[in-house]
Amino acid sequence: KLFNELQDLKGNIRVYCRIRPFLPGETEKLSVVENISENRKLVIANPSKRGREGQRSFQFNKVFGPDSTQGEVFSDIQPFVQSVVDGYNVCIFAYGQTGSGKTYTMTGPNGATEEEWGINYQALNLLFRVSQSRREHILYEVGVQMVEIYNEQVRDLLSTDGSPRKYPYFEQDRLTKWKLVNLIMLIVIFVFLNLHTVGIKTISQPNGLAVPDASMHPVISTSDVLDLMDTGFKNRAVSATALNSRSSRSHSIVTVHVRGKDLKTGTVLYGNLHLVDLAGSERVDRSEVTGDRLKEAQHINKSLSSLGDVIFALAQKSPHVPYRNSKLTQVLQSSLGGKAKTLMLVQLNPDSTSYSETMSTLKFAERVS
Ligand code: ADP
Ligand code: MG
Repeated sequence: KLFNELQDLKGNIRVYCRIRPFLPGETEKLSVVENISENRKLVIANPSKRGREGQRSFQFNKVFGPDSTQGEVFSDIQPFVQSVVDGYNVCIFAYGQTGSGKTYTMTGPNGATEEEWGINYQALNLLFRVSQSRREHILYEVGVQMVEIYNEQVRDLLSTDGSPRKYPYFEQDRLTKWKLVNLIMLIVIFVFLNLHTVGIKTISQPNGLAVPDASMHPVISTSDVLDLMDTGFKNRAVSATALNSRSSRSHSIVTVHVRGKDLKTGTVLYGNLHLVDLAGSERVDRSEVTGDRLKEAQHINKSLSSLGDVIFALAQKSPHVPYRNSKLTQVLQSSLGGKAKTLMLVQLNPDSTSYSETMSTLKFAERVS
């Protein structure tokens, strides 16, 4: 029965679309028609074609127009975040080309007021409020991790020295003959020792509890979170100057772990929330870039298409979900599929010069929704 329930919930994916406002200096506005049938449909017009033939429509669970506020967006995200305290794993990510408002939606503008807070802060704030309101029955503990994935390397943004670290857990190591022999010997010794001392133990760990090796930081208030994220974004910014706006070419992931212990029954629930600001999805002209830039572009391409494949497989309820094709999907695995809930925020630029990128963003979304 449980298995059936899990199967039913497998395709638990929502796709929202947000169009950022027109910014000063942008010349030609793209012809976008929204507000059709309860903000669920978006019609977009090809600027080089006239009339209906240049129009295409896309369906979403929700479309947020250029005038939408952070508060309005969050009110439709709130139920997802809230389910984390009930033991669900949730993944919310922003997809779109550089400049389409991913960071604005996920984090907010620089020096944001409380009204301008992005999903990151609002989500943590909500988690604290809910856990406070239940404190007589359930004791909650909240921990935060923050990593960046750049060129298939995971980097801890909250480690004290901020230096890049390797994650052996994720390395797809080639299994040489010698390693195999060593491994088998270790297993034999381990099993032998275990049988003789304590019998066979099963170690059960909550599924995908943490990003391996990235430091975990307990938080008890929104101001703790603001401080932590400040540190994280600064660490990200350090490399941005060094590596020419690297922040738009890496994925940043804030992972929130919530552990709730029922004070009466002693039952423990785990939930985690991944908040992901993806690398810019724009195509890089292969004829123009070489060396490091090309490698970067290929890594981004690979990880975004792997993410697309995973979500597509989940939406199709396919028995095989290809998590292992990129670091991004490996790190997010616990929050994609199973009983996890996934929310994709598709970010769009409103100017007509972005038309072709906007179309490819919409096609990515269409495939998974
Ligand atoms: P991305 O992270 O996708 O590269 P940003 O979030 O940095 O894009 O947004 C690009 C610019 O547009 C920034 O100056 C940002 O402040 C502005 N912007 C994005 N979304 C909004 C919005 N909803 N309201 C006002 N300004 C926005
Ligand atoms: Mg950004």
